[in-house]
Parts: sequence; C-alpha cells; structure tokens
Amino acid sequence: MSKKNVLITGASRGIGKAILESFGREYYFIATATNDQSLKDIENNLQKLNLEGHACKLNLEDRNSIKEFVSSLEDQDISPHILINNAGITRDNIMLRMKEDEWDDVINVHLNGQYFLIKSFIKKMVKNKWGRIINISSTSAALGNKGQANYAAAKAGIEAMSRSLARELGARNINVNCVAPGFVETDMTKDIIDGNEDLLASQIPLGRLGKPEEIADVVNFLASEEANYITGQTIHVNGGLFM
Ligand code: NAP
Repeated sequence: MSKKNVLITGASRGIGKAILESFGREYYFIATATNDQSLKDIENNLQKLNLEGHACKLNLEDRNSIKEFVSSLEDQDISPHILINNAGITRDNIMLRMKEDEWDDVINVHLNGQYFLIKSFIKKMVKNKWGRIINISSTSAALGNKGQANYAAAKAGIEAMSRSLARELGARNINVNCVAPGFVETDMTKDIIDGNEDLLASQIPLGRLGKPEEIADVVNFLASEEANYITGQTIHVNGGLFM
C-alpha cells in the first residue's frame, strides 16, 4: 500500500516538530515553516529520523504564500490524507490597546489560514472517501485569557468550524477534531513561563507544564485507525488546568 501523506503546518519547532517526530516511517511528510532556517531544520530532522518527505515554505499571514504552497503541491500531484493545522502565533495585548494588525494577524494565521488549507484539500479527501483533519486549538478558547481576545476568538472559531465540518464530512469518512493544549513549554510560551514556572504549575492539578510530545501523542492517536469513531471533538490536554 502507498504511504499516506501527512501535512503538518509549523513543523519546525515546538508542538509541530513533536508531532512530526511522533509519526512513523509509513507516512510521507509535507512539513511547513516560514523561513529558510526553519525549512533547513525540518529537512535535517526528516533526514535524522529517516522519514520520507519534504519541507515547504508557507506563511499563513500571506494569501499569496498560501496560493503558492497549494499550487506547488498540486503541481507535484500531492494531497494530504491527514491534515494537521498546527502553525500558530500570538500577538497579545489587552483590548484597550490591541491594534488592528494584532487582531488581523492572529485571525489570519489561525482561523483564516485553516479555512484556506481545509478548503484546498478536502475535495481530494472526499474523493478518496477517507481523511483526517486535526486542528490545534488552545485552552484559551474555553477559558478566555487576559490579553488574548484575538487568540481566544480565533481558537474558539476553529473549534466551532471543526464541529460543523465534522457534520458535513462524516458521511465521507473524514474525521475532524481539535486538540486543545494547556501550557506547553515552547518558544511561544517562553516569555510567559520564564520566572513563573512555580506559579503556573500551582494552577495545574498535575502540578507541571506540558511537554510538546504529550500533545503530539494525542494528535497521533487521532490520526490512527484506533480513533475511527471520534469526530467533532475537542480533546483537552492540559494537566487539568481546564476541566
Ligand atoms: P512555536 O514553538 O512558536 O512554533 C510555531 C510554529 O508555527 C513554527 O513552526 C513556525 O514556523 C510556525 N509559524 C509561525 N508563524 C507562522 C505563519 N505566519 N505562517 C505559518 N507558520 C507559522 O509554537 P507552539 O507552541 O509549538 O504552538 C503550536 C500550536 O499549538 C499553535 O497553534 C498554538 O496556538 C498551539 N498552542 C500552544 C500552546 C503552548 O503552550 N505552547 C498552548 C495552546 C495552544 P517558523 O519556525 O518558520 O517561525
């Protein structure tokens, strides 16, 4: 049987890199990042892990970049069987001070970016009568977070979009789910975590921050045959921070 293609956005660092590393050699990877250094990091990682695949430039803030990315896959006749929308940014600010571009950038990368990619790739999944879409959300969607109205709104939108898609696509054997991490140690959270580890850990029932691999394991499960009967769900992986 030919390999299933897995597209992971934002696979150069943090959770995306851990997701890539959690999948085995039976897959072909399309792994994205925004800049040359990150693309090189992905290529080195694929080589180190002896995984088949390639790195692709994709900037979800830029619609031309999305179009070029989608066309390049079409030109190579590659379409993802498993689409993992992981790439993300934060532009935190309280609403009183939030600039239009801080709002737009976050909505573009998360919500609009996922819309464009899903829209581009579901036709082939429908034709194949098989597909998996896994969108990375956040506890911020359920809890809200001071200074993150843009990010929380984008993530809540992703969860609602995923439930609607699960209803639209279920009959075609396409499962759509979200994974919502709590506090995970990555570049995204470095500034918030540095110096506040104990305070943050004290708010988490399991008493510690999460590791990227602990999110990746759940994504990996949702992509597996064992998760065939799970769709429209948001799986919370947060040490009990939100329950
Ligand atoms: P990270 O370490 O900062 O990595 C972000 C990844 O996204 C990188 O691969 C980066 O590529 C890519 N990226 C950044 N801007 C992009 C853009 N404009 N277009 C396309 N790709 C872009 O972040 P992370 O913590 O692993 O977060 C991964 C996902 O988990 C995000 O959706 C985030 O919202 C979610 N999440 C994280 C946490 C947490 O505690 N860390 C909690 C809840 C949810 P480059 O290397 O090229 O910059």
